Amino acid sequence: MVKAVVGANWGDEGKGKITDMLAKKADIIIRFQGGANAGHTIINDYGKFALHTLPSGVFYGHTTSIIGNGVALDVPVLFNEIQSVIDRGVPAPKILVSERAQMVMSYHKNFDAYEEERLGGKSFGSTKSGIAPFYSDKYAKIGFQVSELFDEELLKEKVIRIATQKNIMLEHLYHKPLIEPDKLYQELMEYKEMIRPYVCDTSLYLYEALKEGKEILLEGQLGTLKDPDHGIYPMVTSSSTLAAYGAIGAGIPPYEIKQVIAVCKAYSSAVGAGAFVSEIFGEEADELRRRGGDGGEFGATTGRPRRVGWFDCVASKYGCRLQGATDVAFTVLDVLGYLDEIPVCTGYEIDGEMTTEFPVTHLLEKAKPVWKKLPGWKCDIRGIKTYEELPENCRRYVEFIEEQLGYPITMVSNGPGRDDIIYRG
Ligand code: GDP
Repeated sequence: MVKAVVGANWGDEGKGKITDMLAKKADIIIRFQGGANAGHTIINDYGKFALHTLPSGVFYGHTTSIIGNGVALDVPVLFNEIQSVIDRGVPAPKILVSERAQMVMSYHKNFDAYEEERLGGKSFGSTKSGIAPFYSDKYAKIGFQVSELFDEELLKEKVIRIATQKNIMLEHLYHKPLIEPDKLYQELMEYKEMIRPYVCDTSLYLYEALKEGKEILLEGQLGTLKDPDHGIYPMVTSSSTLAAYGAIGAGIPPYEIKQVIAVCKAYSSAVGAGAFVSEIFGEEADELRRRGGDGGEFGATTGRPRRVGWFDCVASKYGCRLQGATDVAFTVLDVLGYLDEIPVCTGYEIDGEMTTEFPVTHLLEKAKPVWKKLPGWKCDIRGIKTYEELPENCRRYVEFIEEQLGYPITMVSNGPGRDDIIYRG
């Protein structure tokens, strides 16, 4: 059986923590999209880790971690991440990398940085991890697939072809150093040695695992609102963040995904540019940012301060719908314990009209939040183990949001640790 853990918001909802927690009972954990441009923060018995490429299940001895074909594989980042986990006392994880995954090359990162530089103030706020140039090349059919590392004749011809094409842009648009085919070939050979022990026909492996009744987790990166089709285009990421894409990015049948856990954070946060209707500013925002997550709302990869806001029912309802949520995991609720009242965005006003349906980008940019204030609970809820023990106003907050979403909140996370979880009904 396959479960997907995916984001219903803009990312950073706490998917890593939920995956790490569910991984206890899972056999296989798969990353199916995205690259090293976002991170998951996980706190467990070994300490605190910021993972960018490895799935959040690597800390258990019994799990196999898979980098699926849909991932933008940054080989040196993966290699270093495996090493850093081992260096900190975690038993060597069992890792498989899809032979059909494609690799982020150093020129992808350069192109990412050059394009941000060229756009100046109009940039997308890219993390410069090469993700957009990587996926552009994948779909333009000029990417490097892991399997191709083992076909040296093909590679020799391909590095020349790609350098010729890329160098036109480097010379005439960006005025930057050109790609030397020999160096590119060398880079590929280095990646080959790093990745060799892990390469696998992972879709076949998963086919066998499903036949044996193994428990499989798909771990998403970012969230619905960063999906290239259904998100806030063009301020989105370059691969689908939806559970449905898990089937493609892992190479499994879509009907095997039986449970979709949409992770929703009890308030909002976002990185990068783009309309963010329930965003807050000034002192109010600084306080939430400081108290947020575990040690503040700052990007796990970039350290950038995240934009923060109150819970957005419109965006989150849409986020759950596009994920096809069977369950909602409602996270970071403990952070809100300091507030007398908690504003919640229950609708958008666009050109004088009220709506609770999430609009396309040009309308979203005009949307103004409609607020409702709920009473706070003014205490620390960490350590509470059952739903009934939560303060009444806290339960009211959860139940109000559940009603607005129209999807069942079956898990409430009240702390960053593995065991800080309350199951409901
Ligand atoms: P992901 O990308 O969705 O995995 O999310 P991140 O790891 O970027 O951000 C979530 C942050 O919130 C991390 O620092 C987690 O340790 C932390 N976190 C997760 N769940 C909770 C929770 O219920 N309470 C608190 N206080 N922090 C949490």
